[in-house]
Amino acid sequence: MGIGQKIKEYRLKQNLTQKDLADKLSVTYQAVSRWENDEVEPSFETLNQMATLFNCTLDELFGRQTAKPVVQEEIANNPVSAAPVRQMLALCECCNKPIYESNLIRRFDEKVSIGHGIAHDTESRSRVYCDACYKKKLAKETEERKKEEQARLEGFKKRRIHSFIWSSLVAAFFVFLGVICLVDGVMDAAIFYFVIAVMAFTFTSCMILFNTFIPEMWLSICGWGIKLPGVIFTLDLDGILFLIFVKLLGALLSLLVSIASFIFATLLSMVLSVFVYPFALGRNIKGIDVDLD
Ligand SMILES: [Zn+2]
Repeated sequence: MGIGQKIKEYRLKQNLTQKDLADKLSVTYQAVSRWENDEVEPSFETLNQMATLFNCTLDELFGRQTAKPVVQEEIANNPVSAAPVRQMLALCECCNKPIYESNLIRRFDEKVSIGHGIAHDTESRSRVYCDACYKKKLAKETEERKKEEQARLEGFKKRRIHSFIWSSLVAAFFVFLGVICLVDGVMDAAIFYFVIAVMAFTFTSCMILFNTFIPEMWLSICGWGIKLPGVIFTLDLDGILFLIFVKLLGALLSLLVSIASFIFATLLSMVLSVFVYPFALGRNIKGIDVDLD
């Protein structure tokens, strides 16, 4: 296709007559007619004017293929390879895929154990994950926490069942004694044993539930004892006999104190446990552990 044909094509596209175009370019319409018939070629300056007027390049006016349309065509045919180059911002440490968008980068600190055995320690490492991997990690952690919590509550339930069984056995023993007294017609003793049965139940339960101050108090009172001072003695028969005597006396004394401590601790705990037991049971059902300092 010659330039004349092109000029005509562009002129018609713009809905211009030969006269219109001639007027715009300040030439005669005969000149336009001659260009279009390829009789003469317009000057370079006129061609430039025409290109501006037709909103095209000189190459297009000459009907030449230019570099630009080729690229556009390639993009149209192959949008992936021609897509704008994205800058990689980070690499996911989980799936190793590159991350291109800053709002998809998930940074967090992870506790990792270093060393082995006794020397083992934990260290905080910063990690970079992609959004998808991070969400998976969170979901996994939530699942693990749920399982842990379930196992924990299961442990509390087990302890509760144990407390019912053992306390009932202990209480049953005192109820049995009470019933015997009742049969014998000794009312006072019967009432005493029934009261003891209730206390024995609550005390044993509190000891097994282990989530109030009762077990700790009981243990610490039982630990009360006497510290014997050092014995000064001479290294002869009398001295050694004196040492043996003092040691035996000390042993007997601490045995008595231990028994007294044990009885006192148990009686005090039994009385208190009647009031504490409802809290102990409530805490166990809620899964609350002892939080005493
Ligand atoms: Zn990932």
